[in-house]
This record gives sequence, structure tokens and C-alpha cells, in this order.
Amino acid sequence: MRILELHCDYVKVKPKQKALKTVADLSDEEKAGLHMENVLVVFSSFEPGDDDDVLQQAVDAVKKNFGEVKASTVLVYPYAHLSSTLAKPAAAINLLDSFLEKVRAFCPTAQKSVFGYYKEFELKCKGHPLAELSKTFGSAAAGSASAAMASGAALEKKVAELGGKSAGLFSAPSVFADYGSATAANVKPSHSLEAQRNTAALLLAHAVSSESGGTALCGFGKDAEIYVDFDSKPVNTDVLKALEQRMDALRSKDLPVKVHALEKKTAEKHLSALQKEALADTAAEKVLLAELDGKWFFLPGPFCSSAGKVGAFSLTRFGGSYWKNDAKNKPLQRIHVMAFAKSAEKAAFLKLQAEAEARDHRKLGRQLDLFSIHEEGVGFIFWHPNGMVLYKELEKLLREQYEQRDYSEIKTPLILNEDLWHRSGHWDHYQENMYFTQIDGVPHAIKPMNCPGSILIYKTKPRSYRELPLRLAENGMDHRHELSGVLSGLFRVRAFTQDDAHLYVTEDQILDEVTRFIQFLDFMYSTFGFTYHIALSTRPAKAMGTLAFWEKAESALKEALRKNKKDFTVNEGDGAFYGPKIDFRIQDALGRQWQCGTIQLDLQMPERFDLHYEGSDGKRHRPVMLHRVIYGSFERFLGILIEHFAGAFPTWLAPVQAVVLPLTDNENDYAEAVAAQLKAAGVRVKTDTKSGKLEGKIRDAQLAKVPYMLVVGQKERDAGTVSVRRRDGKVSHGVKLSVFETALLEEIRERRLYG
Ligand code: ZN
Repeated sequence: MRILELHCDYVKVKPKQKALKTVADLSDEEKAGLHMENVLVVFSSFEPGDDDDVLQQAVDAVKKNFGEVKASTVLVYPYAHLSSTLAKPAAAINLLDSFLEKVRAFCPTAQKSVFGYYKEFELKCKGHPLAELSKTFGSAAAGSASAAMASGAALEKKVAELGGKSAGLFSAPSVFADYGSATAANVKPSHSLEAQRNTAALLLAHAVSSESGGTALCGFGKDAEIYVDFDSKPVNTDVLKALEQRMDALRSKDLPVKVHALEKKTAEKHLSALQKEALADTAAEKVLLAELDGKWFFLPGPFCSSAGKVGAFSLTRFGGSYWKNDAKNKPLQRIHVMAFAKSAEKAAFLKLQAEAEARDHRKLGRQLDLFSIHEEGVGFIFWHPNGMVLYKELEKLLREQYEQRDYSEIKTPLILNEDLWHRSGHWDHYQENMYFTQIDGVPHAIKPMNCPGSILIYKTKPRSYRELPLRLAENGMDHRHELSGVLSGLFRVRAFTQDDAHLYVTEDQILDEVTRFIQFLDFMYSTFGFTYHIALSTRPAKAMGTLAFWEKAESALKEALRKNKKDFTVNEGDGAFYGPKIDFRIQDALGRQWQCGTIQLDLQMPERFDLHYEGSDGKRHRPVMLHRVIYGSFERFLGILIEHFAGAFPTWLAPVQAVVLPLTDNENDYAEAVAAQLKAAGVRVKTDTKSGKLEGKIRDAQLAKVPYMLVVGQKERDAGTVSVRRRDGKVSHGVKLSVFETALLEEIRERRLYG
């Protein structure tokens, strides 16, 4: 089951009409509705497999929050929208009643709102951060926990990418196995960046305890960054500023950092209740406490000998978290701090961060009128006409290449029978991220991946070795459920279109096929000016297929990379159990890396779907399947492109390629004629004939990042020329329109980078 809890000043609920035909009519009392005050409203969705245990777990969580927020009563509100796999109504009614009964054990005045009716409700939320995330219990919990972890990791990654460097991926473990152990290396003072980072965390912990009375509850770091969780008042940007000032003042005093290696029992005396819990989870016999200015903290070492040894630091971000990263636990505040050996490094970092913010694709998306996201479809992208130009140009480029490189394009349905997803294995491994529906009473699923559709087409007829390699491409739209909290512009969405293709090959064709793919990808990425890094992931401990096959496949992948003269790193044992893969990470204009392209060998799908072809020996053979993408998804790739180019796209991509600006109204006709000629030649061109000064028109075009502004006055009109003003400020006067047109068309045709 899933619940979402809100602590409210009041809630009013009134039933409207039946949503389910089968539910009973309402009594007069039920019809009147409910009005409850200082109430914990528990929106609840019940799912198949929810049993007494599951209900009890949820009740325990509610009970804990009920006590913590000191609510007077509880309203259990059946709310179908929290889950995509709901229990049947008859079962849900019973589950709702048992749930209410259990809640009444600790809150006798608890009520439920009626089940199976449309209702209107009004509530006023209190401000404390109780539960912005829904919670899951029971069979669904395992899957969604991993989804949440994956989302969390992706979020970390995104922030790391924004940070530009060295922020890295890390997350708090739920136990503190190696935490805070007083090893010889940790006790000794150090001047390493790690020690500076930990000392910065110590400064932060000290500042928080003085500023807002909070306790530091453990910090986790990687590279130059560390975060510390606090049991404190909510943090905001003002609080952050005040904290930085306090930390700076402390640092300039250069107070000594004293490190105490203590037996657990002795250490306990210096710690708060939650810190003691962390201590209990620590495997180490002796732990390390750091003392600064008379205050003691349980944070990871090593530390610098004094606070002044920290070169520079920056509080990079903050947000909510939970004790031990578990949403069932106490909500906490998390602050990230980054240490730098020199203040010049900090300045460079802050500059990069500001640059990344200025390029934020969500901001530029609005400014350039590219796309929007609406309440009515959270996680889904609405492409505006300008954004659609970008999208179609990416498709066009890809399709031209598919023609040249012997791919065939297919299109498969969005909704397919649930049985297919059982056969493909997605039901077992991916159910939590899928959306389901019914057609004629038969369960169906909305596709999260395109592979099974492609396979059904492969299987429509007997295949011969003569047809292989068979390259079936599909720009396929996939839907995957993501938690609302991790959605992020174009980078993390619930529906996206992959530039997917599945290559069906014989074992002997792997080398040649992968070689071709790398060349294809190289061509595509260089078109956008991206360099990239390559990682090869090899056989994990548990793998299907023979060792001989893996050796052959891996050496083919390596050989393909060598043939293309590509450097690569090897992630030993990091491949999927069904095949090795190569991942490609592009590097953007700010030096940030983005995982986009991939080619993945797959032995499993051909087995599951019993694919074969007739070999030259007349016998049946199993083909190898290669999944591959270059953009990854159009949505995410466009987000990356927007930030990479800072919205100033190369001319071939730009939504508007040229704008004609008449100097006065007298040149409006000529401006229209210039535009008409370019338009006829296939250029995306506009005229700006609104009255007003030229400077204003140039500013507008500059804001819209149009590559070419063609200024026309009386002189240009008389001579049949244009004054060409480039986006980067270069101006050429008296250019014959035909000359400009020829050069522009060439630039577009060759898809040149602007400049
Ligand atoms: Zn696939």
C-alpha cells in the first residue's frame, strides 16, 4: 500500500456522486461529509497482496508521525491516485476498514472518508516538512525502494554534473558499518583535501549548533565534497549565508582541532540520542570524535590540525533528507559543503556554477519558447513550435544517416498486452516503473522499452543469414514511472522518445557491427562538437551464456574500439548478466559529462523469445541482439544541447535562422521580399516589421539567439543587398542577397557549428 500524510489545520470532505457502480448508497450522516481540525490526513492506496502485516507497518508509520506532529485526530482518505496497481474495489474496502480499525487503536476518534465516491475536499496544510514523499509498504516496497535509490542516485548525479567537477556520486548507507572508526590514519592530523573537507564539515557542524541549535548527525563525503545531516530548523538561503559567515569567522581564528580516539562506551557520553544510534551501528571498537572550540562531534576523519588549514570552502546546496536515508525515519536537514585547497579554485568553481545556472535548460526553455511542463501532466513534455524545430532537426539528421547506414525504420504500438511483458521479463524486474491499463477487460501495459515490439517484427517470418545484420530502428516513445520529487526539466521525465535500434547479427558479425556503430556515433557527436569518453563493461560473476561466448564478444568490442583508435576504460564485471556493453559519455562546453550513447550485447532476449535464423549450413541458429542508442532520448539530449550551446544553436538547428529588420516602415516591403526569397530556399526566416527603433529589434533577435540579423535600409533596398549582423556581433555591409543566401544554405546543409 501507499500513503501520503499531511498534517492539516483542518480538512473538509463532501461526497459528490458514485465513482463505482458497486458501492452502497450513503447514509444521511455520510452525505453530510466531514469537517476535522488539527488532523493528520492519510491519503491511502491499497494494492494487491496487502495483508495484515503490511497494514500494521503503515499504521506504525502513521502512529509515529501522529505523535510527532501532535495532531488531534486522523482521517484515512482512500485515494486511488497514489498507485498504478490498485487492489480490486471489494478487497480495498475491507483493507480500508481494517486499516481504520488499527489506526483507532491509538487514535479512537479517527475517521475515514467514503470509498468509491467522487469527493470534494478542502484542507489547510501546516508548514512543517512531514511527508513530501509518499511511502510504500508491502510487496511493492522492495521495487520502489530500489527505484527511489536509483532516482536518488540520478539526482546526485545531476547535481554532480551541475557542480561540474568532483562532487561525485555518494549516498548515505542505512547502517554505519565503517563509520567514524579511529584508525591510525584517521587520528593523525592531515593536510589532504579529504582532511580539509572533513574539517570544513566540522566548521559547519559547529556553526549549525550555534546558529540554529541543531545537532550534526553524521556526514558522508566523496572527493572534495561532504554533506552533513542535521537535526535542526529548516535551512534556507539566508540561514546558509549566516552559516558561511560563522564558519569563516571560526576558520580565521585558526582554533585547534582535537581528535579523541575513544572506546564506544566513553564516546556515547558526548553524543545525542540519534548519534548514539549511529554509534551502535558502527563496527569499529574505537571511534573518533572531533573537538572544536569546546564542542564535540561524531564526524569522519582525518582532520586538519587546526581550522585555519582549510584553504577555502563553499556551502554548495541544501535540502531535506531522512535519518539513514529512509523516508520512514525522522526528517532532517542536509547541507553540502565543498573544500578547496586554494581560494582561486573556489572562485573557478563558483564561476562554473553560475555559468551552469545561466545555461539551465529550464530557464532557456522558457526564454526561447521551446517547451513547457504542466500540472496536468507532471513529468511529460509539451514541445512548443520552436522546440519542435529542434526535435525535428534531430530526427532528420538521424534518418538521413539511417538511410546511408542501411537501417530500416519501424514503428510499434505504445500499449501492448501484459503477457508480452511477462515473456520479456519486464514484469518481474521492471513492474514498478510501468503504467498499466485494460482493454476489453484484458490487462495491458504501456511500453517502458521498445525491444519486445522490435522482436515481434523480427519473428513475423523465417529469417535467413542473408538478411543479417538486420538493423531495425525505432524512435520509440517510452513511459516509465518516476517519483515526482526527482523529475527535472528535460533531464528526468516520465515519457521520452529513444533513438532506439536493435541489430540482429550472427556471432561473427559482432566486431563489424560494433565498429560501424562507433563510426556512426563519432559522426553524430562531432556534428554537435562533443568529445566523449568510452567505458567497456565486462562479464559479471553471474552471467548467462558460455565463457567462450563472452570472451569472443568482449574481444570483439575491444577490437572494434581499437580499430577506431578509441581510448577506453574497462569496468571489469560491470556488464549486465546477459551481455557486455560499451557506454559513451559526452563532454559539454562546460566540461560536464553526460552518459548518452550505448551499445549493449544481449543473449537473453533471443532466448526468451526463441529467435532464430537459418544459417548457410541450413541449420537453425540463435542471433545475437544488440541494443543501441546515440542520443539516448530526444528529450534529455535536447536538454543537454540547450545547455551546451547556451541556447545559441548552430544555424542548422536554430528555430529561426535569420530575421530581417527594416530600418524604417519604408523598407517593410523590401524586408518581406528578402524573407520570401530565403523562405522559398528553405530557410527558417522571420521579419520584424513592428514599429520601433532598430536597436530594440536587434536586442529582441539577440535575446532569441537568432544566428543572422539582416538589416535593410534605403541603401540596401536600392542595391538589392542586406547588412548582415551575426549573433556574435560581426557585421558585413552591402552583401548581395544571392551571395548571403548561397553561403547560408551551405552552412545549413553541412550542419556547420556556428562560428
Ligand atoms: Zn532494446
